[in-house]
Amino acid sequence: MSSTSSPFLLSGRVCVITGGNRGIGRSIALGMARAGAAVAVLARNEEKNSHVLDELRAIGVPAMALPLDVTERETLSGAIDAFEAALGGIDILVNNAGVATVTGGILNESPEVWDTTLATHLDATFLLSKYAATSMVKRKRGKIINLASMYSYFGAGLFPSYGAAKGAIVQLTKAMAVELAPHHIQVNAIAPGWIATEMTALACEHPDYAEFNRMILARTPAGRWGEADEIAGAAVFLASAAADFITGVTLPVDGGYSIC
Ligand code: NDP
Repeated sequence: MSSTSSPFLLSGRVCVITGGNRGIGRSIALGMARAGAAVAVLARNEEKNSHVLDELRAIGVPAMALPLDVTERETLSGAIDAFEAALGGIDILVNNAGVATVTGGILNESPEVWDTTLATHLDATFLLSKYAATSMVKRKRGKIINLASMYSYFGAGLFPSYGAAKGAIVQLTKAMAVELAPHHIQVNAIAPGWIATEMTALACEHPDYAEFNRMILARTPAGRWGEADEIAGAAVFLASAAADFITGVTLPVDGGYSIC
């Protein structure tokens, strides 16, 4: 880092983000691009991929998108190779893709929902981190950012597989941070509070969830839902040289929810 350049800039860096075509992932992708990074998006919906690709190119950075399902584990290594062939070595990996299926609890949750949830959040984070870190180790630098949750800390009675996956993400983040620190690779997580996206639309907007929504707002000192763009700044910071001595943390971005 030169003394005249901002440590928050990501010019010349290559960022891969899963689930980067909408919600929090899209905001992080655009935030990384605005900070100067080339950005590759990996998600299933081709129309949404194409839309975010247009937005990234309009910012003026190299960008690409692959229509992939992160639960198809045999495709993930090839995806990392394809991104590197097109954009260069990966400097930043954001494991953001997620699903949350409200099942009401383990009495009602099917093994299929359990498997899909764990595969999307946890298995994909493990595998993509493994493949990206293999490349980062050779270049002696890298940043891995995982999406945790308030349910990394608190019981998720209505969707236990989600809580189990997000709890494990925190421990996987710490494990990878310990292993990869000597290689100048930092691994951190962001734990968003309640952010208005498609994932949370029911709780945020649906009349059937009005009481649940009231509980969320009453417990959030900021007194409101967060916006996806409010997660992007934390991700850009953790991806930047300004965070080179920060590793293994889970950073709440939650309007104070986790302190109440
Ligand atoms: P959204 O539902 O809005 O977006 C989810 C993203 O993940 C989409 O881009 C979707 O793209 C992608 N995705 C889902 N499944 C797969 C898959 N199998 N393969 C590839 N991509 C997939 O969710 P949010 O933006 O709200 O959430 C983003 C992350 O933040 C998640 O990890 C979530 O758990 C976490 N989080 C969100 C909170 C919130 O309040 N919103 C709170 C705490 C954590 P596509 O469908 O095209 O594949």
